[in-house]
Amino acid sequence: MRHVLVTGGAGFIGSHFVKRIIKAEDVVRVTVLDALTYAGRIENLGTAFLSDKLRFVQGDVQDAAAVDELMSSGPTAVVHFAAESHVDRSYGAADGFLSTNVLGTQVLVRAAHRHGVEKFVHVSTDEVYGPLLRGEATEEAPLRPTVPYAVSKAAGDLVALGAHSTLGLPLCVTRSSNNYGPNQYPEKIIPFFVTRLLRGMTVTLHDRGQHVRNWLHVEDNCAGIEAVLRKGEPGEVYNLGGGADLSCKELTGYLLALCGATWDAVGYIPDRPANDARYAIDWTKARDQLGYRPQHRLDDGLAETAEWYRRNVDRWAPLMTDSRTVVPAARPARVPLELPRGH
Ligand code: NAD
Repeated sequence: MRHVLVTGGAGFIGSHFVKRIIKAEDVVRVTVLDALTYAGRIENLGTAFLSDKLRFVQGDVQDAAAVDELMSSGPTAVVHFAAESHVDRSYGAADGFLSTNVLGTQVLVRAAHRHGVEKFVHVSTDEVYGPLLRGEATEEAPLRPTVPYAVSKAAGDLVALGAHSTLGLPLCVTRSSNNYGPNQYPEKIIPFFVTRLLRGMTVTLHDRGQHVRNWLHVEDNCAGIEAVLRKGEPGEVYNLGGGADLSCKELTGYLLALCGATWDAVGYIPDRPANDARYAIDWTKARDQLGYRPQHRLDDGLAETAEWYRRNVDRWAPLMTDSRTVVPAARPARVPLELPRGH
């Protein structure tokens, strides 16, 4: 692995991955392709710019000519993070999510095939499996996405896997649970709540805050993605989970304590449509086949994250918005599927 092209490398997870992979001795160049949408922040790359291995290119993954030119510069591996990633926004902007997350993926896999890329990792999400009331989705579980973001990611996964089966592109897909850590754009629940609570403002939970998510430290996800990049079997999907399962209300309890706030700061609003009750993945395949093991404890990771926002007000204060909820009125949510463990 000599030259790694990272799409979306100025975003939250992509920038952590760039800072990790640039330290690898067998990597001599890291090229970042990022459109710098509202979510892409060049400052996220921080210390990576100290390395002469880094090359940053501002561009759109849907721009076939630009992507082709970049692929001709000789990347041996591609790690594809670039996406529209915020669920709440996707309700009102499904077309844009489909363009970036599906057509952008198509442009990349075609160009990677044309230029003989040796390994392509397509970064995806547990949300493609849809809601599970009980049990955990293995990589063989059916894709039953509900919200427009997850629909676009599932379609992108199929485009990516299709490039393996039809073109023979050596490609893997990763599906991780929700990530947290420093540098996350303050529209996602953890930074949104932390930044507001640190300023003495209120926050709101959907319904009773009962929705369950698995919270994985971003560095654990990046370690898993590197393991897939180096050792993943082409054509395979790897779930990267193993964080902590928490309802949004339980998560809020942690964040209140870390920010010195009380439940008086918390209000409740009607649920959004198809707010999936619970996501859960079985990640034993990545553990057993690749040696993937998350290292971060939730309480340490959340404390470190809150501390980062406390110390970096200049980074997030200009980005704060009043609401992370830009969705139409709620209607009855879809009944969650139940899959037995190991399905
Ligand atoms: P992010 O929104 O923080 O970053 C996305 C990056 O992609 C930004 O830098 C943005 O500028 C760039 N981008 C967007 N559209 C682009 C385009 N057309 N061309 C080039 N660059 C473009 O997202 P994130 O949270 O870092 O997520 C990264 C990837 O991981 C996404 O594919 C997402 O679906 C997936 N994922 C995220 C999570 C999570 O909890 N954040 C969990 C599982 C999977």
